[in-house]
Amino acid sequence: MAGISRPRGTDDLLPARVAARERAVAVGMEVAGRYGYQRIETPVFEATELFVRGVGDTTDVVNREMYTFTDRGGRSLTLRPEGTAPAVRAFWESDLRQAPLPVRLAYAGPMFRYDRPGRGRYRQFNQFGVEVLGDTEPELDAEVIALAWRWLAALGVAGTSLQLNSIGDGECRPAYRAALLDHFEPHLAQLPELDQARLRRNPLRILDSKELGSEELLATAPRTTDFLCSGCREAFDRVLQALQAYRIPFALNPRLVRGLDYYVRTTFEVWHEDLRGAQNSLFGGGRYDGLSELLGYPAAPGVGFAAGLERVVLLAPEAAGPQPPVVFLLAAQPAAAATVIVLAERLRERGHEVICDPGRRSLKAKMRGAERSGAALVVILGDAELAAGTATVRRLGDGHQAEVAADDLEQQLQVLVPNWN
Ligand code: AMP
Repeated sequence: MAGISRPRGTDDLLPARVAARERAVAVGMEVAGRYGYQRIETPVFEATELFVRGVGDTTDVVNREMYTFTDRGGRSLTLRPEGTAPAVRAFWESDLRQAPLPVRLAYAGPMFRYDRPGRGRYRQFNQFGVEVLGDTEPELDAEVIALAWRWLAALGVAGTSLQLNSIGDGECRPAYRAALLDHFEPHLAQLPELDQARLRRNPLRILDSKELGSEELLATAPRTTDFLCSGCREAFDRVLQALQAYRIPFALNPRLVRGLDYYVRTTFEVWHEDLRGAQNSLFGGGRYDGLSELLGYPAAPGVGFAAGLERVVLLAPEAAGPQPPVVFLLAAQPAAAATVIVLAERLRERGHEVICDPGRRSLKAKMRGAERSGAALVVILGDAELAAGTATVRRLGDGHQAEVAADDLEQQLQVLVPNWN
């Protein structure tokens, strides 16, 4: 077709997928609510500087994947690629900073990255995430993991594994960075171009390299957890103990550094066995105690995670949920149009889902429309029903038909379809 196509890496969601995503968010917000998290919304675009400083200009996200533009006022803006830096900014710019600490926040919404599109990878995708701000207690790291884990369980997602690591902090990371450089530098010339650049700019980044040609050296690279200072070691032990108390199984993964620069200490991802390669991560997160200062604010240590909703929904049998049975109300003759509208409105006011066809098409065409709509019941009102004060109700599944009093319609429909809401 010669029409205009949607941009590469974007998708049009049809009703079933919208409903599944909304349900995943609703369940997520409900679970988060049980842990005391409250929902916030931040703008879809932010000052570019927020991500350059926060996420870090040696990361793929900032280097290659941002949708950045200049607005009419000459400001550099970026469609948000992630939700943590915006949450920290919002914390400082709102009344939240006066709230008792820690502040527990949850969010859901679209993110934008100029990524290579593929299965489960889009240029506009949706994340559900939480952030805890203003506290360094390692048990909070376990709390956000537990919340995410319970959310996946509530959605019926199985086959997941929690990958866990600690990447140290400002105290122990310099020694680890030096060890990484010692390990790779003698072989620098053999490494792919991109990994050479990573080593020069931010050696930790090489650990999440997916480049061919670096695998062997990566497999024997020094492990973050062998270099932890006593503070990081103790914090990590407390995270592990808390996870055991939550009865959440984990796999230690010393190569997990995550793609964003702001992380310290705990990092984690949840992988799914059906998602392959670079797209196998359902969600990721960690602690980001220095992020607030990177953004130019006072200290506000934090921990959080973000999950890709498209990937979660793909694996969540419960996400679709039951489809509510729908009523299709139609006027068999023009004289019944007004009454059909009145009855439809009455049912809608009572919270029912009603499709209404009071128009002038033939009864046959309307019945065909009703069948194709997937409705459970058709309610027909024509001249005869108007005269008698009744409505003809037809159950589409088995063709069962009954004449009921129009005034008593709601109750009669409930009798005909017992699970009708
Ligand atoms: P990140 O913000 O990079 O830590 O990513 C967190 C989660 O967001 C990942 O585990 C994915 O589930 C999801 N995600 C990241 N990038 C994309 C993308 N381009 N398309 C779809 N989901 C994504």
